[in-house]
This record gives sequence, C-alpha cells and structure tokens, in this order.
Amino acid sequence: MSADTDELQVWIDQDLCTGDGLCVQYAPEVFELDIDGLAYVKNDSGELLQNPGIRTFVPKNLVLEVIDSAKECPGDCIHVVRSADDVEVAGPEAA
Ligand code: SF4
Repeated sequence: MSADTDELQVWIDQDLCTGDGLCVQYAPEVFELDIDGLAYVKNDSGELLQNPGIRTFVPKNLVLEVIDSAKECPGDCIHVVRSADDVEVAGPEAA
C-alpha cells in the first residue's frame, strides 16, 4: 500500500507522557491510556501499539484533533509526522 503524500502518522514518546489523558479526550480513536497510566497510539483496528516510537496513521477525519493534541500535550511528547518526507508538522520538533 502506498501512502498519500499528505498522509500523516503520529507517535508518542512515553518517557515524557504525564498521563493526564488530554489526547484521549481529543481523539479516543487514536490515543488510549494503558494500565501503566501512559498514552499509546492505536492502529485502525483499535489495537494498542506499545513499541517505543511506533507510529500509526492519522485517520483523515481526525487530523485536526490529532494536531491539536500534539500542540496542547502537556508533556510535549506527541509527534505528528508527514509520511512522505518524515517532516514533523506538529509536536516538539515542528518548525
Ligand atoms: S496529552 Fe501528552 S502527556 Fe497527556 S496523556 Fe496524551 S501523550 Fe501523555
């Protein structure tokens, strides 16, 4: 499957997550708090992805919610990355 050029992916740096759950409020289809109290991304089957740095695609209808999550994340640890060129469009490393 080839990715659209405007397709976005998102990952969380759990080392910095405060566990406040803001991202889960914004986009529960994408983010979930695990029993360890930290947030993880989910794939499109709703499966929690727990490998460090693992990315999931951002559903088209949730792009704004996911970008807002990254901008307001208290831990500054949500990274939204453009699939095509790996440029971070929202998050601590965004321009
Ligand atoms: S908003 Fe950020 S700090 Fe808060 S739970 Fe989500 S990833 Fe963790």
